[in-house]
Amino acid sequence: MLEGKLIVISGPSGVGKGTIVRKLLAHDENFCLSISATTRKKRLGEVAGKDYYFFTKAQFEEFIEENKFAEYAKYAGHYYGTLCSTINRELIKGKYLLLEIDVQGAFQIKEKYPDAKLIFVLPPNLSELKNRLTDRNTETPEAIKKRLSQVDREISCAKYFDTKVVNDDVELATLAVLEAIYS
Ligand code: 5GP
Repeated sequence: MLEGKLIVISGPSGVGKGTIVRKLLAHDENFCLSISATTRKKRLGEVAGKDYYFFTKAQFEEFIEENKFAEYAKYAGHYYGTLCSTINRELIKGKYLLLEIDVQGAFQIKEKYPDAKLIFVLPPNLSELKNRLTDRNTETPEAIKKRLSQVDREISCAKYFDTKVVNDDVELATLAVLEAIYS
């Protein structure tokens, strides 16, 4: 029997999902983070198997063929996906599994796991978010352009989420996420 809970955290690139997720992980040891597979290049400081499983496009497509993903999507030109094995392993342990994934993946999860909580993190100020993304030095100008083009589309999906949280103050936003998880 699957006893745990799936918590999906989505929101545009640069909105601070990662910080909220780190705070949730520190809050309670019953929370754990789903490590996704991706075909994007490893960033400086990222560790394979900790930040992502880094796949080649061929490997990723083989896994799609073999139905090994609970969800997957193409985001800014690269594949990202959550492995079924990750979800099953953590739910059996009774964990609250945090999935920091894009909106396409969020909806696939809700379809497969209707009890999953879908939480969308919004920026307090859209133009400020876009400026911050433009100034990011972890991405190439081309990658930044692709991410910027996703922002409006992603925000337009917020209305389909169970809970929307504005990340104005990260402590308050984390508390709001916790409240949504336990409600
Ligand atoms: P980044 O390249 O900045 O790490 O992630 C880019 C986007 O891909 C973010 O919105 C992130 O939430 C999303 N993402 C990360 N892992 C997954 C995944 O397993 N599935 C889906 N659908 N999106 C993911």
